[in-house]
Amino acid sequence: METARSTRHALVVGAGIGGLAAALALGRTGWRVTVLERAAALGEIGAGIQLSPNGVRVLSTLGVLDRLLPTTFRPEAVEMRLGRSGRRVFRVELAETAVRRWGAPYLHVHRADLLDALLAGTAGSGLDITLRTGSAVRGYEQDPEQVTAVLDSGRRVTGSLLVGADGIHSVIRGQLLGAGEPRFTGHVAWRVTVPIERLGRDVPPPTACLWVGERRHAITYRLRGGALANLVAVVERDAWRGESWTERGTRRDALADFEGWHPTVTTVLREADAHYRWALFDREPLEEWTDGRVALLGDACHPMLPYLAQGATMAIEDAQVLAHRLERTGDVPRALRSYAAIRRPRTARVQAGSRENGRRFHRDGRFAHVPLWFLGTLAPHVYHRRLDWLYGHRVP
Ligand SMILES: Cc1cc2nc3c(=O)[nH]c(=O)nc-3n(C[C@H](O)[C@H](O)[C@H](O)COP(=O)(O)OP(=O)(O)OC[C@H]3O[C@@H](n4cnc5c(N)ncnc54)[C@H](O)[C@@H]3O)c2cc1C
Repeated sequence: METARSTRHALVVGAGIGGLAAALALGRTGWRVTVLERAAALGEIGAGIQLSPNGVRVLSTLGVLDRLLPTTFRPEAVEMRLGRSGRRVFRVELAETAVRRWGAPYLHVHRADLLDALLAGTAGSGLDITLRTGSAVRGYEQDPEQVTAVLDSGRRVTGSLLVGADGIHSVIRGQLLGAGEPRFTGHVAWRVTVPIERLGRDVPPPTACLWVGERRHAITYRLRGGALANLVAVVERDAWRGESWTERGTRRDALADFEGWHPTVTTVLREADAHYRWALFDREPLEEWTDGRVALLGDACHPMLPYLAQGATMAIEDAQVLAHRLERTGDVPRALRSYAAIRRPRTARVQAGSRENGRRFHRDGRFAHVPLWFLGTLAPHVYHRRLDWLYGHRVP
């Protein structure tokens, strides 16, 4: 058994976006950090992610933005189009407004590039952060002085704090709160990326473009300076029968789900080499995020539908608030309770907003999108103002 060398040794379970951001935030405030990751090696499927200014600001504080920026794409605008005809419902400027109004750019990044940037950050000089892959954690034990992560292998690692950043099927959450699987939302997402040169005239616009239709929608955007097109295409399903929450699907099934849709959507689906299908789960907001020296973070405590594009961003915000609360007091359980009290209301609001957007995107009928048309076309400043609480939020 490995014992704590210092009273400021944090164990982070999970090396996803949330776990690596937490490791970095804690490492930069003087914690020795051990990250325990189940996978034998860190890897990512080809998928993009949208990072709004509230998350980008934290990445800047964590010192990873300079490395990340060259790999990103800045959308000019956010727009909504009808999925079949391609007719535009609205378009609202985003690039300049993001910087001017919310203090940081809105970025599209490849998940692998974000993980690489975070990982490179954890190797920064002066930081004491160790990543152990092939280290599946099965639970924890604690006493008033310390907490121990118990690995599947039987090995034990002890520190003064444990962060459960082990994703939507978190074993740390399971121990903390008991049984209770996340809820299948009835939504399944196709995710693909395609080099832009394969798309000819059907290349997606340089925006965050939402395509809406009955019981389905898609989002197209660009990655890596515009070299890659990214598509997330969501359909409603009654059940998810797979064992896993993500699986490889077929081009044929993906195209069948979007038959008759605009060529921009169908060409990306047709030209993609790999078609991944994700079952989308969420939860009601949790009452408890902490247990003594243990705290949950990211999808482990607030999984959400991706319709405000905030899951990873919320995990990044969590990381910064957690490190900040721990800086203010040496009483770890107290700092963790304070972290949870700050983060719960905000993440609950984002969870609810994400669900509401799901309902909005899947409406059909002639007048279904009139309110959004009105906002986007006649009152873009109101559209921007309605996002202030989300994108303008500043964590300490
Ligand atoms: C279709 C789709 C589109 C999305 N788009 C966006 C977007 O545009 N913007 C955005 O901000 N978010 C988006 N998200 C959400 C975002 O991907 C997640 O919220 C985010 O990745 C959660 O990060 P995490 O670190 O909490 O969890 P995860 O990424 O799930 O990481 C958990 C880590 O823990 C490890 N692990 C699990 N169990 C154990 C164990 N027992 N022991 C050790 N390690 C373990 C896993 O291997 C993994 O590495 C999207 C999600 C989906 C499905």
